Amino acid sequence: MTAKKSYKFKAEIKELLDILVHSLYTHKEIFLRELVSNASDALDKYRWKTTAEDNDGPDLDIRISADKEAGVLTITDTGIGMTREELIQNIGTIAHSGSAEFVKALAQNKEGDSGVEGLIGRFGVGFYSVYMVADEVTVTTRSADSETACAWTSDGQGSYTITDLPGDTPRGTSLAVKLKSDLSDEFTDLDALKRIIKKHSNFIAHPIFVGEDRVNTVTALWREPKFQVKKEQYNEFYQFLTYDTDEPLATIHTSVDAPVQFNALVFLGKHSRDPFGMGRDDWGLDLYVRRVLIQKQNKDLVPEWLSFAKGVVDTEDLPLNISRETLQDNLLIRKIRTSLIKTILAELTTMAENDKDAYNLFWDAHAELFKGGCQDYLHREKLAPLLRFNSSIHEDHLELTSFDDYIARAKPDQKEIYFLFGPSREACKLSPHVEIFRKKGVEVLFLYEPVDEFIMDGLKEYKEFKLISAEHADTASLDKYASAESDKEQAPELGDEEKSALDALLGKMQDALGEKVTQVRLSSRLSDSPVCLANPDGHTTSSMDKIMRVMTKDQSIPTKVLEINPDHPLIRNLIQVYQADADDAFIPRAATQLYESALLLEGYLTDPHALVGRIQELLTDSSGWYVQTKK
Ligand code: ADP
Repeated sequence: MTAKKSYKFKAEIKELLDILVHSLYTHKEIFLRELVSNASDALDKYRWKTTAEDNDGPDLDIRISADKEAGVLTITDTGIGMTREELIQNIGTIAHSGSAEFVKALAQNKEGDSGVEGLIGRFGVGFYSVYMVADEVTVTTRSADSETACAWTSDGQGSYTITDLPGDTPRGTSLAVKLKSDLSDEFTDLDALKRIIKKHSNFIAHPIFVGEDRVNTVTALWREPKFQVKKEQYNEFYQFLTYDTDEPLATIHTSVDAPVQFNALVFLGKHSRDPFGMGRDDWGLDLYVRRVLIQKQNKDLVPEWLSFAKGVVDTEDLPLNISRETLQDNLLIRKIRTSLIKTILAELTTMAENDKDAYNLFWDAHAELFKGGCQDYLHREKLAPLLRFNSSIHEDHLELTSFDDYIARAKPDQKEIYFLFGPSREACKLSPHVEIFRKKGVEVLFLYEPVDEFIMDGLKEYKEFKLISAEHADTASLDKYASAESDKEQAPELGDEEKSALDALLGKMQDALGEKVTQVRLSSRLSDSPVCLANPDGHTTSSMDKIMRVMTKDQSIPTKVLEINPDHPLIRNLIQVYQADADDAFIPRAATQLYESALLLEGYLTDPHALVGRIQELLTDSSGWYVQTKK
């Protein structure tokens, strides 16, 4: 009758257990949080299964007791329980890839103990954390679907046994934890256990008893009137929800009556959602119906671009027994979502206005996700004032500005917001395309992320201002502004002969470059550089062009216009070279070199060998000339 069978753990679990059993990690108490949260999930599942509201009776609870003498801690719930198959499935194997990722993340963990704490919670390796404190664990469980119960036992060393139990075991699960001898005193002390539960599990929605006493009292904070909730309570709840050890950046507590009734408590954290680049699914808001948890991390309540928002939504307007399928594509949920988006954006707007430091923190942590909202034309305009950029007026790459601040600084009759895309601040500052702007003292926003370019492309304008890439700016429109660099020496005017030589020189350069360029022409945008490349269509920016090329796997070098700065000393020299000998071989050499340096600056030059070879030849020649003039 009591068949006892032995099983081996899967390799990945053995590895995980090995880490946990030998862990020197100091906050071992969090195993209790994990077990209590499993028990709470089991209670939720049971209530879910039976759905009737009156199932919220005294029957659903979590009880913790301790036997000091025996060094055994027991955690019992009256939840859904497990069948023999489920025991093997749920505890003997890890269905998701959680453990492997957890082990990887542990190895990379740079945050010390607090990092481990977050990781254990996030990777769903909860149950196994008990082996940080246990010599042996026995799980006695009876599924709500089954008349028979069984006991699972393991010392966490590689195998476990399952025994069928005779008699009438109550529904639910009971974990008997035989504590390691050095931890036995600590974790059989009822007061210590109460403290741990209060600290980590205070917001569990089911009653938790330690010994005879109910420990957790606070529930459904989101349904309390705002003025009655203290900041500490909000923070505690936030930390309970997120495993974040920091305070939230913003707390949004709202109660809405129309068009749908709901209460929400939503937090914006200070840290980006995913510091390890994992857990992409780890987001969403917990959905309650009349204080009863219906679904954790519901992903229809907020869009992914607001997935850094964590919290709960509680509504009276859904039936308690609503199925998960009905939840998807539910009109009511959509209305709540629309309302929440508005509320969160309003909160961010207020933060941006009243607390710039906090907003910058928000931006640093969440901009990457948040910008995703601009893809959606419905929200684009609302998001635009909240966007931040680095700019030519800043001292370094860390400073940020908004469109509105840019406008406030714009020239009196300026009707454009200029931007330039580049791989870094240095690259943007050195770009020939911003020279004219620097000269005229006109600000240029520097964009470093490909998504920024899509945003500009999508927005097209902000308030009355057109968003224009510096690459395509009509430089004539900048003529009206006085030069901000008045002390800079102007190149002398060209005489008629020199002018026609310049024209012919352009033709020579064009001949030398052939098909590589569509045209060689004079530029009005350059002041410090001799040449730059421009797009013939005057529309696609070079960075957008690059993105398209990556997408279409096009590795060819684009054909562009080569623009020449007639005032640059190098070009002035070339005019003289041309006047002396129109067929001087130096002209095609210089043309090719200038063209390839421009390609390099724009990030198109894939093979620098020819360029470097030519530089060396030119240096050899010029050093030779230099030596001669010195003689
Ligand atoms: P997670 O809880 O993240 O899924 P765990 O390792 O903590 O990971 O638990 C594995 C699974 O074992 C749970 O998903 C659940 O199905 C089952 N389980 C754990 N504890 C209980 C319990 N007290 N009652 C019923 N099932 C449980």
